[in-house]
Amino acid sequence: MSQPILIVGGGPAGLSAAHAAASAGRKVTLIEKEDRLGGAPILSGYAKLVPSHEWASDVIGAMVKRVVDNPNVTVRTGARVQSFDGTPGAFTATLKDGGKVEVGSAILTTGFTHFDSVNKPEWGFGTYPDVVTTTQLEQMISSGKGVRCPSDGRKPDRVAILLCVGSRDRQIGREWCSKICCTVSANLAMEIREELPESNVYIYYMDIRTFGLYEGEFYWGSQEEYKVKYIKARIAEVTSDGKRLLVKGEDTLVKRPISIPFDMVVHAVGMDPNVDNMTISSVFGVKLNKYGYIERKNTYTTLCETSRPGVFVAGSATGPETIDDSIAQGSAAAMAALTFVPAKTPAEAAE
Ligand SMILES: Cc1cc2nc3c(=O)[nH]c(=O)nc-3n(C[C@H](O)[C@H](O)[C@H](O)COP(=O)(O)OP(=O)(O)OC[C@H]3O[C@@H](n4cnc5c(N)ncnc54)[C@H](O)[C@@H]3O)c2cc1C
Ligand code: SF4
Repeated sequence: MSQPILIVGGGPAGLSAAHAAASAGRKVTLIEKEDRLGGAPILSGYAKLVPSHEWASDVIGAMVKRVVDNPNVTVRTGARVQSFDGTPGAFTATLKDGGKVEVGSAILTTGFTHFDSVNKPEWGFGTYPDVVTTTQLEQMISSGKGVRCPSDGRKPDRVAILLCVGSRDRQIGREWCSKICCTVSANLAMEIREELPESNVYIYYMDIRTFGLYEGEFYWGSQEEYKVKYIKARIAEVTSDGKRLLVKGEDTLVKRPISIPFDMVVHAVGMDPNVDNMTISSVFGVKLNKYGYIERKNTYTTLCETSRPGVFVAGSATGPETIDDSIAQGSAAAMAALTFVPAKTPAEAAE
């Protein structure tokens, strides 16, 4: 019998790691705390993904299917690891229900937690029903219901998307850039304009980080083809005049105060460290970095190693990551785990 691999977290990174290890002939046990696989794109109901414009349910759904259908993979949903003991090549994971899984190594693909906008109360979330998050907007689109104001179901004429909500904000202890939200927001703005061609969509930004090849299609495309308007601003607050929401702040290009009315305001929420990370750190004996994500032992030679030998990490568990990079890291972690622990047990190798 070959040494099985434990994978914790069934999002894009975990699904990729499970597929790679199982395709190489290794037995895999995949543990997911929720009752279904797919990670944030499925659990949070994302619509069309960037950069491919494919529906999340189709592409991530296909990743789920190929893992579930693979006879080398045992999937345990609604499950958590309570303790993880032993040494590389001979670990025992004890699950919350008391079940035990003997494995040679483990890969942590436990992902991130969406920033909770109630921690930015001055920007209106939780006070005004028509202040929503990008995940809520994704759900409106993916459910087929379309973009509507939650307060009364009307189609919004004027929509503001506020970038960097819960990212790049030292005041609330979040220094990092969440990497993908500029591009996701430009894409959502284009989707709103496509569904509601009469609408006016504004993106409020500090800087635009549609990195790499995303600049042309998403930043310029949203302006030139879809007439999305960008305002470089420092936002003070989101209030209401009784009829419409008001986004107040300073236009930092012309250095003038601005107060602009909208029907709907969208928070482009960032990627916080997984709220479970303290527990994961103590159960698996792995270090967290100063931001609270799982620490990579080093950056280049062994990208996926943690501080504990035999325990690897991939995807947004390590910091904000895109889906394609999370998938690539999942495969890399599987390769690292495969080569780290021999395919045969010492007794088998001696035979
Ligand atoms: C609004 C929004 C839209 C986005 N859209 C895009 C996009 O269009 N394109 C793109 O490239 N990226 C997008 N992203 C980023 C994308 O969500 C991440 O890149 C991706 O989800 C990372 O995958 P992952 O597998 O690392 O983590 P996750 O998707 O977070 O998956 C982690 C999995 O682990 C499980 N888990 C967590 N803790 C435990 C535990 N203790 N035990 C067991 N299981 C656990 C979780 O339930 C989850 O299933 C978006 C992000 C946001 C915020
Ligand atoms: S990707 Fe854009 S919206 Fe997201 S944190 Fe970075 S700069 Fe802000």
